[in-house]
Amino acid sequence: PKPIVAVVGRPNVGKSTLVNRIAVSRDAIVHESRGVTRDRSYHEADWNGRDFVLIDTGGIESVKSKDVFAPRIREQALAACEEADVIVFVVDGSVGVTDEDEEVARVVRRSNKPVILVVNKVDNPSSEDEAWPFYSLGVGEPHAISANHGYGTGDLLDEVVANF
Ligand code: GDP
Ligand code: MG
Repeated sequence: PKPIVAVVGRPNVGKSTLVNRIAVSRDAIVHESRGVTRDRSYHEADWNGRDFVLIDTGGIESVKSKDVFAPRIREQALAACEEADVIVFVVDGSVGVTDEDEEVARVVRRSNKPVILVVNKVDNPSSEDEAWPFYSLGVGEPHAISANHGYGTGDLLDEVVANF
């Protein structure tokens, strides 16, 4: 089976933007065995000939992000992490560390799976120091990217496939 990469994080950090940038097609794939839940969608992807499946989480909440509360975010992260071989944990460099990020970090750390911490919305490479505060989440080195522009996503994918 193809390795599974779960993209987790609180609403509005840019998970879906990142998945759409990386995925082969924007359409979610339907898995006969597990189905596509309301909260997660599955997408085919590859990098340098390595095929994998990307899980995007939190489709509903990205529409109404104001309504989200921490337990829901935690549940989503938990479900995705259970399925994953590698976890991509996305945070927002333009906002900084939030309580919800810390909530997700607890789930991710408990999974004992390889985690890649991605600091998104670093649209200007000279703003890379926005990533440093995220060391405090305790999940390793933060990788600055811009899902909008594509900055840093190649290095991120190198790191992802190195963990398969
Ligand atoms: P999700 O809720 O985590 O899936 O986040 P989305 O992918 O829906 O993105 C939330 C908002 O952040 C949207 O308005 C995106 O256009 C914006 N966004 C995503 N990536 C970037 C980025 O790299 N830079 C900036 N400035 N905005 C971004
Ligand atoms: Mg989304």
